[in-house]
Amino acid sequence: MPDTINLLPDSLANQIAAGEVIQRPASAVKELLENAVDAGAAEIRLVVHDAGKALIQVTDNGSGMSEIDARMCFERHATSKISQVDDLFHIRTMGFRGEALASIAAVAQVELRTKREQDESGTYIEIENSQVIKQEPVATTTGTCIAMKNLFFSVPARRNFLKSNAAEMRHIIDEFLRVALAFPQLFFSFTSNNQQVFHLERGTLKQRVVQILGNQYTSKLVTVHENTDYLNIHGFVGKPDTAKKTRGDQYLFVNNRFIKSAYLNHAVMSAYQQLIPSDSFPLYVLFIDLDPQQVDVNVHPTKQEIKFEDEKIVYAFVQAAVKHALAQHSITPTLDFDLDAGIQQLEAVSKPFTEQDKAAAASSPLYSSFSKANQAHFIETDKSELRHWKEFYEPASQPTNSPTQQREQPAPAFNSLLSATYQSQPLQLDETADLVQLLNTYILVPSPAGYLLLHQQAAHERILYERYASAVQSQGMAVQNSLFPLTLRLSAQDAALFNELITDLNLLGYSIEPFGNNDFVIQGTPADLDQGNEKQVIESMLEQYKHFSPDLKFSKREKLVRSLAGQHALKAGKRLTQREMHLLVQELFQCDTPNATITGNPTYLEFKKDQLDKMFGR
Ligand code: ADP
Ligand code: MG
Repeated sequence: MPDTINLLPDSLANQIAAGEVIQRPASAVKELLENAVDAGAAEIRLVVHDAGKALIQVTDNGSGMSEIDARMCFERHATSKISQVDDLFHIRTMGFRGEALASIAAVAQVELRTKREQDESGTYIEIENSQVIKQEPVATTTGTCIAMKNLFFSVPARRNFLKSNAAEMRHIIDEFLRVALAFPQLFFSFTSNNQQVFHLERGTLKQRVVQILGNQYTSKLVTVHENTDYLNIHGFVGKPDTAKKTRGDQYLFVNNRFIKSAYLNHAVMSAYQQLIPSDSFPLYVLFIDLDPQQVDVNVHPTKQEIKFEDEKIVYAFVQAAVKHALAQHSITPTLDFDLDAGIQQLEAVSKPFTEQDKAAAASSPLYSSFSKANQAHFIETDKSELRHWKEFYEPASQPTNSPTQQREQPAPAFNSLLSATYQSQPLQLDETADLVQLLNTYILVPSPAGYLLLHQQAAHERILYERYASAVQSQGMAVQNSLFPLTLRLSAQDAALFNELITDLNLLGYSIEPFGNNDFVIQGTPADLDQGNEKQVIESMLEQYKHFSPDLKFSKREKLVRSLAGQHALKAGKRLTQREMHLLVQELFQCDTPNATITGNPTYLEFKKDQLDKMFGR
């Protein structure tokens, strides 16, 4: 038997590799524009014909290449941007993999003209199927002009996969705009089939955004700007009324590199919660800059996906920065500053700067560079009580989680703040003990090891949520028929929505029937609910239902149950009797997850004697 393993010829290897980097004309556009940026060009011109299928040409006035480099640049893994492993962690250029030109040369006919400032004449090179077919000196200006013709001419299968010209053009425009937005200090032009598509004079970011999106946006942009020692965020978000029904103008850059991140997109979207309808998308152009060591851009061939050393922190910063910006521009005076509950609970976010933490974190490069003054998320509001409680509670001995540990345990992080006993064994509470209600909001509950401080509204929300969730699964809840049925009149949209919810609402103890013309009759309400403001409860429930973020993939039923639990829960500020308090505590600890609300906030905090002793220096 002959041996069967061959080494692929370079041209074939390059063609295979090209499949990853150059998927369509737009990918080549991106790579060529980025090379021009990396070459320090001040002016970059893009020309395409036939949506890039016939020609893509990028001309820049950057550094140019020497004769040798002009030939070298088409070799695979040929790059001037990194030379050793360590460089991978300090990348400041757009490119570094040394694959783009090799890939392009494998799948198109390429002509390169390039000249350095110090050279008399430049170099002209023609390449086909990765083979140099012509090389000669040429008279040209400083910089580089690279033209690729007949993309995929040698790979008909790939060529046939290309979409219509209109579709490919859209991709090209997307890539062009991403680079143009990231570098407003550079001039860009874009010509397609001899017609000018964009002519972008250099200017500020705001000018660039307006050049691209249109003048009508001048007064519609809110500046985002937060600097911290760990990362900076700057850019613009659209005022809520610019939100569109289609996800369009949303740009996120990390160290000037456009990236796609559903996670960080969610951070921005969540900052708009309750400001825009849940099915619309705000405009944003945001730049996150941080130490290149904190990101890995080498996880994806086209570098559009990156990995953060600590994604949760970035999420929290982005969300807080956008909220802050929107609030500062008094778009919403009632804006709730709380960070996303799950994030807020993270020690790193909720309190990275107690003295103990500072010491404990000193060894971690990630945290050691924070400074309190500059924390974007450190926004003081009257809603920050919770954080103070936690700080107060925080035992001195608690080990600081390393970033890695946090990534591996994304579970509601505040669990770690609470004693593990409640997760593992049922709570032993003295049922005869007198409970104390504080501020008509908190209930102080003695526990064997110390005491609990329970938030009555949070606790009741949890109780109702679990009760409703099981009711819709099973036989439903008892109805209390109203002596005087009420009519509810809704808008056409709300009525349509409401109609879809009636079956589930009936399971939840509401007896409701459509009455034509967007009217409904409420004939009964859940037996355990005080009657009197049914209408208002239903209207608020609908409102809350509508405002669930589209990113939360809840079923209709889940949204309904959550909204209803929120609406029906007894409120903070309500005075409770001993009996009511005992009932609440008892029901809470019968829940499957007694320690958190549905949104991840704690329902109670535990204070233990030994921790209290420590705080008192005993
Ligand atoms: P990478 O950008 O990852 O280094 P490329 O294949 O895109 O890899 O380019 C290879 C090399 O060719 C670059 O590192 C750079 O030195 C050189 N080069 C490419 N385009 C240009 C340009 N427009 N001007 C000057 N040098 C360039
Ligand atoms: Mg490159």
